[in-house]
Amino acid sequence: MTNTSISPADLYTDAFVWDAHAGVFPDPAIDLNLLNSWRDCGVNYLSINVGFDVMDWQQTLKTLASYRHWLLSQTEHFALVGTLEDITLATQQGKLAVSFDIEGMNALNGDINMLSIYHALGVRQMLFAYNLNNDAAGGCHDSDIGLTDFGRDIVHEMNRLGIIVDCSHASLHTTLDIMAESSKPVVFSHSNPVSIWQHQRNILNQQIKACAQTGGVIGINGMGIFLGENDVSTRTVLKHICYVTELVGAEHVGFGFDYTPNVEVDIGIILSSRPDYWPAGQRYDTPEIKHAEPSQLPEIVEGLIGCGFDENEIRGFLGENFRRVASLSWT
Ligand SMILES: [Zn+2]
Repeated sequence: MTNTSISPADLYTDAFVWDAHAGVFPDPAIDLNLLNSWRDCGVNYLSINVGFDVMDWQQTLKTLASYRHWLLSQTEHFALVGTLEDITLATQQGKLAVSFDIEGMNALNGDINMLSIYHALGVRQMLFAYNLNNDAAGGCHDSDIGLTDFGRDIVHEMNRLGIIVDCSHASLHTTLDIMAESSKPVVFSHSNPVSIWQHQRNILNQQIKACAQTGGVIGINGMGIFLGENDVSTRTVLKHICYVTELVGAEHVGFGFDYTPNVEVDIGIILSSRPDYWPAGQRYDTPEIKHAEPSQLPEIVEGLIGCGFDENEIRGFLGENFRRVASLSWT
């Protein structure tokens, strides 16, 4: 049964689309023409990571420098953005708006002043830990510690600067501390409900509810091992969306596909170089891990209409919910 008059295809074409996190391995040498994968399927804004705790902060800066250079030289189809006004303009001009995120506070090298450097260079979303504990926070594959004093100072400084506070990859206690501490909405940019699929990277009802209470958004992750048994079907993606929506409401759900187009990066080599970050028993050794892709979005919209969601709710999932968070966080 449907309660919307607009066709799924027209709704998707007309809607503003926000992908809160790309899963591309951050590397200064990577060819960012891969961003066309998002532009070609109608995504309007993408956050792409320039670093994570596995690499040192110098490599994060090198990646930032390289990505900035590429984006600033490709202004016909892409726009490096820092504000919602920038995104609106890019969308009107048919460009993919891009800003950066960093997965874990090792990128600060223990110095909180690095936050303003990253902000000035285009970072608009930061995660506290990447799977393992660091000097700021606990990771989801480590002992469940809370935020450290340094981590608390980071939350306040991110709120002040205008960087979206992101709880994905962090431990239970750290996420609850972050959400209690932040004066701005908090997101899980790419995390799925553990009630639908058991995985340490997925999140509990308690975390989903606390996130919604901050006014935040949970971005559904497209990685097959976080959705199900390496299952990337639209049906399964819909299951995750419906679950979170039933729990906290449609205004708290979005997409963070964590998607990587086919690139010449041997993921096996990366994983085996630091097995501590991707521990055994968590299915990271699944052969040929699949991804639900942003190009599935038109089919997902069709499914959402079939589930009975109205046009406003679907526009919220596609982009307006994350845009609301940015409007409250980036100022
Ligand atoms: Zn991630």
